[in-house]
Amino acid sequence: MATEVVCPTNVLESALHQLDEVAALVNLDPAVHLKLSKPKRAVAVSIPTHMDDGSTEVFVGFRVQHNMDRGPCKGGIRYHPCVTMDEVTALAMWMTWKCAVVDIPYGGAKGGVICDPAQMSERELQNLTRRFVYELVEVIGPDRDIPAPDVNTNERTMGWLMDTYSMQYGYSIPAVVTGKPVCIGGSLGRAQATGRGIVYVTREALKTLDMPIEGATVAVQGFGKVGGAFAELIAPLGAKVQAVSDVSGGVFCGDGLDIFALQRHVAETGYVRGFPGGEEIANEDLLALDCDVLVPAALENVFTAENAESVRAKLIVEGANGPTTPEAHDIFVDRGIFVVPDILANAGGVTVSYFEWCQGIQKLFWSEEEVNRRLERVMVGAYHQVYERSLSLGTDMRNAAMAVAVERVAEAITARGIHP
Ligand code: GLU
Repeated sequence: MATEVVCPTNVLESALHQLDEVAALVNLDPAVHLKLSKPKRAVAVSIPTHMDDGSTEVFVGFRVQHNMDRGPCKGGIRYHPCVTMDEVTALAMWMTWKCAVVDIPYGGAKGGVICDPAQMSERELQNLTRRFVYELVEVIGPDRDIPAPDVNTNERTMGWLMDTYSMQYGYSIPAVVTGKPVCIGGSLGRAQATGRGIVYVTREALKTLDMPIEGATVAVQGFGKVGGAFAELIAPLGAKVQAVSDVSGGVFCGDGLDIFALQRHVAETGYVRGFPGGEEIANEDLLALDCDVLVPAALENVFTAENAESVRAKLIVEGANGPTTPEAHDIFVDRGIFVVPDILANAGGVTVSYFEWCQGIQKLFWSEEEVNRRLERVMVGAYHQVYERSLSLGTDMRNAAMAVAVERVAEAITARGIHP
């Protein structure tokens, strides 16, 4: 399906603005502030790739390691036409805060390749992935930088990554990547972990706002790995998922969509559009829906100065990374909309990635119940730490999450000192 691609802009400016705000709020050491405003390492590579028609295409890919003071770098790889070095740098910075806010021993990284996977065959994607990983063999590693899935990458991509990396050393090195298939060392529960984590923080935020989850009305932008799992897991708790959208458009049903029927429709047709169990709704109308909970679960810059005034949800839980520009953030704060920020809300994915890495290193695997139980403990604990911090600082949840995260990273930087 041909859809118009509007690339998010100024994403790095937004990330740096957030850092500057929190630096002022917590009186951050200027040297630490300066260090955190730049990535530790940023690599750009060209990726010559055999295409099915016999031609060779040369793609461009990036890996940015923002910080590794608290542990190895961690973060996904996205395949998208809009990828830029600046975007990947912002996403790497957000990974540093995300790992710190849930207190897992990682720094932040991100990778991306400028390509349109919807136009590529499986074989072309495999060729691209293998050559990209080969170019990064010196940069990534189980104790150095551990990739994972992100936008348009999945278990299959991570399997190729693990294999390519392992082939360079002559033995299997599963801990170089997370989000890989369970049969080669992936973790049970990883596939739904981001969506499940969003459910846990949504539940806690509704308690904070004194709103019952039973009957709460929900809208979800994005019906992929994150939004799809979230909708599937929140519906059985009694919430009414009224609207869902993807790149093809949206569907709405006032009494709540049948999410499992919608999943089947998407499995058959590839898209949300045309689902017989609801009416069509445009993406901008979904974002302005009069609902209790709104979950952006697609790309950056969904909420801007142009549309933030029209949002009517009481609670926004950010499933995507960077969906709210700084201008929209200020509007939401002024209007009293409670926002659980991305670095907290969607940290369930990287948390179970951490569990996968630990299980792989120990070669001792947990049941899905064990994974979910530990995930719940981490997410609920982090939510309450951030909420308490927002009360003690007299600030919103984004600034509070940033304060918790940046202070943890700053403490590590100070403990280690600067080399040489
Ligand atoms: N790409 C996901 C994120 O943005 C997961 C990263 C990971 O598991 O390392 O959080």
